[in-house]
Amino acid sequence: MTGPRNLAAPKAGGAGPSGRSAGWIVRASGPVVQAAGLHGAAIGEVVRVGRRRLIAEVIRLDGEVATIQVYEETAGLAVGDPVEPSGAPLRAWLGPGLLGSTYDGLQRPLERLASAGTWLLLPGAGSDGESPDRAVRDEAGGVAEALDANRRWAFEPIVAVGDQVGPGDVVGEVDDGPIRHRIVVPPDVEAGRIVEIEGGAATVEDPLATIGTADGAVTIRLAAPWPVRVARPVARRLPVERPLITGQRAIDMLFPLAEGGAAVIPGGFGTGKTVVEQTLARWSDADVVVYVGCGERGNEMAELLDTFPTLTDPRSGRPLLERTVLIANTSNMPVAAREASIELGVTIAEYFRDQGLRVALLADSTSRWAEALREISGRLEELPGEEGFPAYLGSRLADFYERAGRAIAIGAPERVGSVTLIGAVSPPGGDFSEPVTQASLRLAGSFWALDAELAHARHFPAISWTQSYSLTVDALEPWYARTVAPSWAERRGDALALLARERQLLDIVQLVGAEALPDADRVVLEVARLLREVFLQQNALDPGDASRPPEVQFALLRAVLAAREGLLAALASGATLDEALASPELAELRRAKAWAGDDVGTRIDALAVRIRGLTPAVRPAVEGGRDDERGDDGEAEEAPR
Ligand code: ADP
Repeated sequence: MTGPRNLAAPKAGGAGPSGRSAGWIVRASGPVVQAAGLHGAAIGEVVRVGRRRLIAEVIRLDGEVATIQVYEETAGLAVGDPVEPSGAPLRAWLGPGLLGSTYDGLQRPLERLASAGTWLLLPGAGSDGESPDRAVRDEAGGVAEALDANRRWAFEPIVAVGDQVGPGDVVGEVDDGPIRHRIVVPPDVEAGRIVEIEGGAATVEDPLATIGTADGAVTIRLAAPWPVRVARPVARRLPVERPLITGQRAIDMLFPLAEGGAAVIPGGFGTGKTVVEQTLARWSDADVVVYVGCGERGNEMAELLDTFPTLTDPRSGRPLLERTVLIANTSNMPVAAREASIELGVTIAEYFRDQGLRVALLADSTSRWAEALREISGRLEELPGEEGFPAYLGSRLADFYERAGRAIAIGAPERVGSVTLIGAVSPPGGDFSEPVTQASLRLAGSFWALDAELAHARHFPAISWTQSYSLTVDALEPWYARTVAPSWAERRGDALALLARERQLLDIVQLVGAEALPDADRVVLEVARLLREVFLQQNALDPGDASRPPEVQFALLRAVLAAREGLLAALASGATLDEALASPELAELRRAKAWAGDDVGTRIDALAVRIRGLTPAVRPAVEGGRDDERGDDGEAEEAPR
């Protein structure tokens, strides 16, 4: 921002909670304001702006003038309004009570306002109507606000007075729904001896233990803050070695995601990004899911917030929300808060990683976040890069994706946990060459491109097999070989080769028609069609097929690929292709994905054996009829149970 500024101090201006004196606004421009008189301010420091004490953050310092981005609606801010320093960066409060919570980007609890039908901040949790004593205590959004201060937890110490403890060491535990929270010595505390420790019922604010360190006594509580923009330290990062199983065939079998890796899902409007993200939130085999709804349309977010609490965790049968933290930017929140919401989400994810848990963070959508960066950058009059995004878009995205990983937590006893990041991208017009998609795909090991044509043809999930990839296949292969089948990589290769060959053949068919193709090529087309329709399509709304364990996914893949052998053998024994295609075994294969029960994998394997020796129908079932409509006459009933 340029232009003359009035740097003279207004009359009002007391001391903030940090003890430093307040500054004053010299210029206000939407979510960005400039202030003078903030002596000793630091970049990243949270300040409170205006009489409504809006939460804001210092993002630039030029001599006397601090540039501040405001995370709340700025209407009514005026030159001369006070700006209070807090002395603290933007922080997340981490401890029991996170699971099951729904927050805004500043970790203020959201609650449904039934009459208005929208989600709003809890009464009193925002800047309006805040009680003065809380305002003093909670300079940067406080623990009492983020983690219900009235709730009591049963704290069980695991160390005793006199024990030596250091950063990350577990001092005790509390149960929180499906998770046992380890209460650790915060990473930024010096080592020392336990001077005092007491078990029993405690709130997040009660002192539980005191450590005598060289720097003095340190009090341990159930909750501790952590700056959201700083990655939490780990003892050692570990290579990825197993996939995050999602239950989705197109993902787990063809384009797997490493646990501790990152995936990017770009897709134009209506291609199914939200459904994929929510499917993963529901079905992925993570211990904890952090879902960040970032800048999506308000009604979509409200729908998510409404449906999520009604879902059950398929593994435990308990409410899904118990292992989930939801972070939402509702439509009435200003752009700057989008960025904070992603950083809050990943900080919470790291906290659970340090507990020794496997965490999946889903962000929908990172494009909205990048647009917020662009808007703020525009107001700062920075030199715009490609399509108006700031030049640092790539490095900011990298800061986010680099927080994925598997790691050994600091401290004892040893805990190994992981953060897996899954970011949706909404490229305008579905054009993947735009900057956010391009910058993201350089950072993620798995790329699931959602294809508008597939979505239009109602092929869901609309994951393109030509554009998608996974760079972690080699690293994960040993796990698949051990856990699923030694031939996993080979069958995966067969499937992708078949789909690639189908594309070439379809180009030829366009020119000369299918009849001109040799039988072997027509077999390829038929098997590729089975692969798409039976194997790749998976209806997220069908409770039976929405998620499948990897061994069942693989059985289905093998059965579909067996159709190639079966069809070729039938042709060799004199059947026509139509007769072979009308075999009851193939009709059964088309229905196999609806099969239920614990023995589905075995049943599909048995079917695959029969598919290799197809029994071609002497005549096609019905003139012009489809092979999958033959179930009515009892010829191709489900396999016996
Ligand atoms: P986006 O978020 O990309 O705009 P959505 O996730 O809202 O798109 O998906 C649009 C519609 O596509 C959904 O309402 C649903 O009908 C359909 N759809 C998407 N994915 C699936 C799926 N895996 N199974 C069934 N239907 C799907």
